[in-house]
Formats: sequence, C-alpha cells, structure tokens
Amino acid sequence: MAPDVKPIPLTRAVAPFYVGVDLGGTSTKLGVVDDLGRPVCRAEDIPTSVAEGPQNAIERIAMGVNAMIDQMGLQPTEIARIGLGCAGILDYQAGVMVNPTNFPGWGGFPIRDLLAERLGMPVVMSNDASAAAYGELWIGSGRGFRSVVLLTLGTGIGCGAIIYDVIIEGEHGHGTECGHMLIDPSPDAPLCSCGKTGHLEAFASATAVVRRARELLAAGKCKALAERTAGGEPLTPRLIATLAEAGDAEVLDIILETARYLGLGIVTLMHTFDPSVVLLGGAMTFGGRASAVGGQFLRRIRQEVAARAFPALVEKIGIRFAALGGDAGFIGAAGIARSVHRRDRG
Ligand SMILES: [Zn+2]
Repeated sequence: MAPDVKPIPLTRAVAPFYVGVDLGGTSTKLGVVDDLGRPVCRAEDIPTSVAEGPQNAIERIAMGVNAMIDQMGLQPTEIARIGLGCAGILDYQAGVMVNPTNFPGWGGFPIRDLLAERLGMPVVMSNDASAAAYGELWIGSGRGFRSVVLLTLGTGIGCGAIIYDVIIEGEHGHGTECGHMLIDPSPDAPLCSCGKTGHLEAFASATAVVRRARELLAAGKCKALAERTAGGEPLTPRLIATLAEAGDAEVLDIILETARYLGLGIVTLMHTFDPSVVLLGGAMTFGGRASAVGGQFLRRIRQEVAARAFPALVEKIGIRFAALGGDAGFIGAAGIARSVHRRDRG
C-alpha cells in the first residue's frame, strides 16, 4: 500500500533517526523517521500473523527493520531508538501487553525486551492510540499545539490524548477509553463491544453505523443502499459515504446522525481534557476533508458541540480531521521513542 505520508530523501533528513513500529492485529507498519518527524523510509506492511505467536513476529519485524536500515545505507548506530506501538493495556515496567483481546496468547510475553535484544537497540513501548495522537501532534493536524485528543473511528472508537506534552495513560492504563464514555443511560440503549450498553462506540463506530443502516433497510428505507447491497456489495461506511456523495439524502442522514453522537462525545472530551484541538482519524471519516460529505460530517459535529459545550471552549478548541492516515502510529511511536531518548540524554 502506498504510504499516507510521502517520505523525504535521506539527503534532506536530520539525524538522529528513529524506527517506528506500529503493531496491528492484522498487519504491522514500519518506518524510519528523522529528528523532525519526517518519514525517510516506509517499508511494506508485514503481516502480524498473530496465531504464529509473538516470537515469530519479533523475528520478522527485526528482519524488516534491518532490511530497511540496510536499504537506506544507514549504520545501526545512526538509529537512536526503536518505538513500538502496541494495542490495548500495557505494562510499561515489564514491557508487555496485558490481556490483549486481538492478540490471544501474547499477554505477558516480553515483546519489548526481546525485540531490543534481537536488534541490539533500545526499544520504547507505547500504546498505539497514544502513538497516533503523538504523531498528529508532532507533524500532523495537531502540529504547533501542546494538547491534542485524537479519536480514531473504525470497527471501534480508539482515543489518544496528549495534554500539555503529557501522554494520558491513567493509573491503570485506561486513561483514554473515550469510546466507552456513557452517552445514553437508558436500559434499552445499544450494546457496546465491551458488553455494556449506551457507550459512544455503540452509536458512532463503523459497527454502529452498519447496524443502524441495516435497521433502516429492514424497515424498507434507503432504497439505493438496498439495491447496492442486494447486488452483493458489502454494507460499509465507505458505501454509505459514496451514496451520500451521489446525493442520497436518506443515506446522508445516517452520517449526520453519527456526527451528532460524536458531537455529544466530543463535548465531554472538551470539558474533561480542555485540549487545543480534537482530531478525527481512523478508517471511517466519510471521505474526510477531501470530500463534500466529509465536510458536512465535520460541520454537523461542530454544530452539536457549539450547542452543548462551554462557549469559551467552543471558541478556542478546534475540531478537525487528522492528517497522517494510517502512518500516524509508526511516526508517533518513533516520536515517543525520541522523547524518551532526549530525556535520558538530559
Ligand atoms: Zn463500551
């Protein structure tokens, strides 16, 4: 897949360099980033192959990292640190993932230290959502700010927050479970992936959007969507965005309703964190800033926020799309590794 952020030539890069690894449930992204946060190399994604176990993945990641460094003509000593972004709850002392849902059997495995040993380089572990927020703050849509909250909209809703240069992790690693903030306390509220009801994710994730669209189809609504899916096309937020872009008002309503729920969630994020900017990233942005529907989605969110948040915050806190796409994670993991490297050097 083409990189979301175009790498710069090595001749323009500023040393030292950092490797970023974004360990995902399906594939792992790898890249080398310079001291100013610019990717200088972006390797092909590596299949994570979770079922093969962490030792096997470490071996393939290490081979990928070495191949990248070789290909660039860098010496391993020119890499200051490796940043490793991992999903879920992490034990930073031990350098392990704690009961990771999408990585059965990987919990408690000393992934950070064994990768460091295999590569002969220090590895800094970070949460993947925090890493993505850090990447956006460093060189993306949050550039120039010190406080950013990033919501990643996909199958679920992830969140990373950096407030005044501090990565919010919380006492138990659950500091930014913002997808699970309660927005509907009624007993018949929809069920969230976590097993509880009424959470933001149950209203505004891709899963929720598809579920709502199915309910409309079952009620005989959204004819255009019914035709497309009857023809065998999978029902996805992307298809919904395409039909809305073509002018289907009923389908557009699904997107605007999603925006309204996100607005409710963002009001609480603003009142809780008071960031400089709230960013929306992930796979489900309905075309993002490149499309008219993406623009309507964002405007509807802002409208809801304006009606419900403190006016002073509405005036000061920007809400915009993230800029780095799927590359935010490895860039941010490298950035967090850089900040630890600079702190350790004093
Ligand atoms: Zn939940």
